Amino acid sequence: MVDKHDVIVVGAGPGGCAAAYYLAKRGYDVVLLEKAKVPGQRNVTGGVLYGSYIPGYGLIDLIPEFESEAPLERRVVRYRLAMISSPSYPGEYRYRSVSPDARSYRVLEITEGSLLDRFVHRRISTGHDYTVIRAKFDRWLSRKVEEVGGIVVTATAVEDLVFEGDRVVGVRTDREELYADLVIDASGVTSKLVIKAGLRGPLQPWQVYHGVKQVYQLGEEEINRRFGLKSGEGVAIAVMGDFLHGAIGGGFIYTNKDTISVGIVVSIDSMINSMRKEVDKMGKPLDILEEMVSHPYVSRYLEGAKLVEYSAHNIPKGYKTMLEKPLRSGFLVVGDALGAFVKIGGLIDGMRRAIATGIMAAQTYIYARKHHDFSEKTLAVYLDLLEPIYRDIRRSARNSLLSESRLLYGPGYRLILRLLGRSETTIINNQAVERDAIQRIQERTGLLVYEEDRVYSHIRVDYERANRDPYKLWVPACPVNCYTISVPGKGIFASYRDLYRYNLEMLRRSKGLKGNGSLASEAIRETWRDVARAEVRFDHVACVSCGTCWVIGHPAIEFNPERGGHGVKFRYS
Ligand SMILES: Cc1cc2nc3c(=O)[nH]c(=O)nc-3n(C[C@H](O)[C@H](O)[C@H](O)COP(=O)(O)OP(=O)(O)OC[C@H]3O[C@@H](n4cnc5c(N)ncnc54)[C@H](O)[C@@H]3O)c2cc1C
Ligand code: SF4
Repeated sequence: MVDKHDVIVVGAGPGGCAAAYYLAKRGYDVVLLEKAKVPGQRNVTGGVLYGSYIPGYGLIDLIPEFESEAPLERRVVRYRLAMISSPSYPGEYRYRSVSPDARSYRVLEITEGSLLDRFVHRRISTGHDYTVIRAKFDRWLSRKVEEVGGIVVTATAVEDLVFEGDRVVGVRTDREELYADLVIDASGVTSKLVIKAGLRGPLQPWQVYHGVKQVYQLGEEEINRRFGLKSGEGVAIAVMGDFLHGAIGGGFIYTNKDTISVGIVVSIDSMINSMRKEVDKMGKPLDILEEMVSHPYVSRYLEGAKLVEYSAHNIPKGYKTMLEKPLRSGFLVVGDALGAFVKIGGLIDGMRRAIATGIMAAQTYIYARKHHDFSEKTLAVYLDLLEPIYRDIRRSARNSLLSESRLLYGPGYRLILRLLGRSETTIINNQAVERDAIQRIQERTGLLVYEEDRVYSHIRVDYERANRDPYKLWVPACPVNCYTISVPGKGIFASYRDLYRYNLEMLRRSKGLKGNGSLASEAIRETWRDVARAEVRFDHVACVSCGTCWVIGHPAIEFNPERGGHGVKFRYS
């Protein structure tokens, strides 16, 4: 018997749930397929959810009661952009000097509505904006789909599209084939379906942001006190600073009910560029986050807080990825899979766009059904509905000329801080910790819950090809310890900065020297020689499925969705 539905939606994130909810509520037969065992447990966001958007297409339009029903953390009442400089003193550990001492740094805080805000922020607040934790939020949203009659099938990875001639007529999961008049791809930034549908090739490093996040538990009252908030109120702080080491992007601090989310979002091409150019300073994405978190401007909020989660995920750079053609007969693409994400200054904005495009795709289905025609020609009405999103994306492309320019992140940044920033003084204690990246990451991934797939690895590495790559930059870029390199006679490394430090120490010892002096450049040269001859090692157990290795290492690395609900689970992301 053929299992045929009106619509199959792939992925129970905000985009997929919105499409499925809209259709199920209107009586259509919708099946929502999700690879995780529980929707949300594999997802990561910052995350401020902007509840309202283009009239008719916000969460508030889809589910008007969401503010009283959804598991929301805090209502965001204040937005701030903080530009900070590194505390000035000599030495390698910028925030952990050799002896306790007073250091100064500059800071410029730009609040919403201020004169400067007009240049750096887009109008952010909508009056219905909340911090959310995806593990809770997506679970709630998918239950809403079930409440209105949608079928939610979890632990089911969609691996391929089923075609009849030119037309998509269904999907192939890790277990079976399902059929529908329309398939809506809401599987996020790692979507392979858009490739299978011939709408684009694999994403490239310049098309993707990488996000790394930590969640700290502190308690509701203490968060209120430190951030000057009333009960239920929240703050969203965007942070820029030297901690980025030339990577284009920024950091964020968001208050949840009794936890604080702190993270960074950086463009992958600029991140791997910095890993190459500053191998002595930047090892892994975690190093950027650690440097931000240990900056006195940020650490004062986190003092005494308990780290409860570490996570990572990618986001499409909308203005470089949004599909010009987001459809083919029987098939539409929404949310991050479509590339509908926008980041401008402090605005990190994907969830409401996923919801809006989900609603638009659902309306397109209803239109096509009225015409009894799911061909490309009829589905093209989706392009008209998407026009406001394309406009936004074009605007963000223009804005990126400044907000993502080298000038802003280099000399321009320092000039702005010198002219407009204020000086802060802080006492920094020497807490230099010499643990390597493998140990530091193990400490964090030890907090996660795993369900290892012992028979199937969703990532396949062509080792011969991978080993031939002279830089192997997906190895340090992997946010966890899935990739390491084995350097004969030296050991196993996850970070090239660790390898550099090892080489520097060996050179120092062999020459009987104390300081780094001229040895630094010799150590850098030796590091890259080592990387070129090293062997890549891979272990999928701790993989958070961000897709970074695929973006950087393609075609030596092939990425697939995890089967059977296996993988890492998040509780707070
Ligand atoms: C660090 C970070 C900070 C962010 N901060 C913010 C913020 O503050 N505000 C904001 O609005 N946005 C933020 N974003 C962006 C936002 O999270 C995304 O834009 C949004 O989640 C996109 O929603 P989506 O439904 O399109 O995709 P996703 O949320 O990625 O959902 C995709 C779903 O599909 C499932 N899936 C994937 N492949 C398959 C498959 N083959 N078969 C079945 N299921 C599959 C996944 O498990 C997932 O549930 C942030 C992102 C990151 C990484
Ligand atoms: S192995 Fe690849 S997909 Fe998995 S966490 Fe590392 S970089 Fe991300």
